[in-house]
Amino acid sequence: MSIPLRIYITPFAEKGVLEPGKWSCDAAKKALDVVNTIWSKAKISFVINDCLTDKPLDIAKSARNDDKRMLGVLSLRHDPDNAVHIYLVNPIQNLPAGGGSYLHSDPEPASFVQWYGDDFANGRAFAHELGHLMSVDHVDIDYMNEKQAAALRGNLMTKGLSVGSDLTKQQIETAKGSKLVKRFGG
Ligand SMILES: [Zn+2]
Repeated sequence: MSIPLRIYITPFAEKGVLEPGKWSCDAAKKALDVVNTIWSKAKISFVINDCLTDKPLDIAKSARNDDKRMLGVLSLRHDPDNAVHIYLVNPIQNLPAGGGSYLHSDPEPASFVQWYGDDFANGRAFAHELGHLMSVDHVDIDYMNEKQAAALRGNLMTKGLSVGSDLTKQQIETAKGSKLVKRFGG
């Protein structure tokens, strides 16, 4: 059983001036291969049902660096349906998060993911956002606790930019029991 994704490649514009887009459906597919490798540890897989280029989103650069606001603006563009909506966008300056997602897929399963320039980094950010949709929240690393820090440093769900792709047993259980996985029969 695979969870269906509807990919929207959403170009940015500012005051009517279109910005050249980084993402392509081919790059989305390559990132998805990384996603599926990471989530195979939980025996969860995703499939791209549709990959569409969306109409440009005209938004000032200064208004892009709030991940919750970006997610709200993007997710309102398409009504919820029977697939997870993923918005792929150009890099956003001064946005430390790799994207944004509704935790527990609430109010709806939708995420956006920035472009990071290579398949692994793109896929890692993509997999992290899907983690949030499957009810997995961030892990907080306690650097005063060396053992805990060493165990979690490589985790997928650390905050901000990271290269980690590990999942703990608890995270795997949380994802498997999530509303999203249950909805699609996982
Ligand atoms: Zn996150």
